[in-house]
Amino acid sequence: MTDAQAERHRMVDEQIAGRGVRDLHVLEAMRKVPREAFVRPDLAESAYDDNPLPIGYGQTISQPYIVARMIEAAKIRPGERVLEIGAGSGYAAAVMAEIADQVHTIERHAALGRTAREHLQKAGYSNVDLHIGDGSLGRPEAAPFDAILVAAGAPSVPLALKEQLAEGGRLIIPVGATELTQVLMRVTRTAPTDWREERLESVRFVPLIGAQGWS
Ligand code: SAM
Repeated sequence: MTDAQAERHRMVDEQIAGRGVRDLHVLEAMRKVPREAFVRPDLAESAYDDNPLPIGYGQTISQPYIVARMIEAAKIRPGERVLEIGAGSGYAAAVMAEIADQVHTIERHAALGRTAREHLQKAGYSNVDLHIGDGSLGRPEAAPFDAILVAAGAPSVPLALKEQLAEGGRLIIPVGATELTQVLMRVTRTAPTDWREERLESVRFVPLIGAQGWS
């Protein structure tokens, strides 16, 4: 086992399984994705630390635990189609691509999006499509999705995203009345015109900027 693999396994055991994440798909996927390939080269030594890291433009690659927690909450299963809003470094998209059939991810910062696309290509993730643009509107041309993950805090649940869920689909999104703190919500489409909302836990994300986010 290489040093990076050993660190990755330790991260999963201590920070993720150790904090109660039980979904075997998530644990397995996070044991595979080389997180060091998604951070700045000068921060590679910190790739398996228990915190977010800067990726430029005031944005971050999320703490590994929160990535695991959100994917577990979304109950992503093999064969499913997933949409992520906020590609950032591309890391969470890679973790989901280890489980799902197809991942679409959207990033509003063009430079971050280009770097994330390079990371994903170099790491061999051919089942991820990265789009640059406003993800608060989703990706209607590729809908419906079995799961939608939003990696940025919104003032309310965007209607566009609810409408792009398949029946039985799950939307995981941080929602808060201020840009600073949010509650992680799970919105499940239970029928064509019915959605169930659950409040999961308090979180802290950078803001979702866009037509159905913050201005
Ligand atoms: N999932 C990422 C990863 O694995 O590195 C971390 C995402 S970071 C916490 C949040 C990202 O959301 C930032 O890169 C930010 O530019 C992006 N973002 C904010 N508003 C957005 C929007 N409306 N559409 C797409 N991306 C957005």
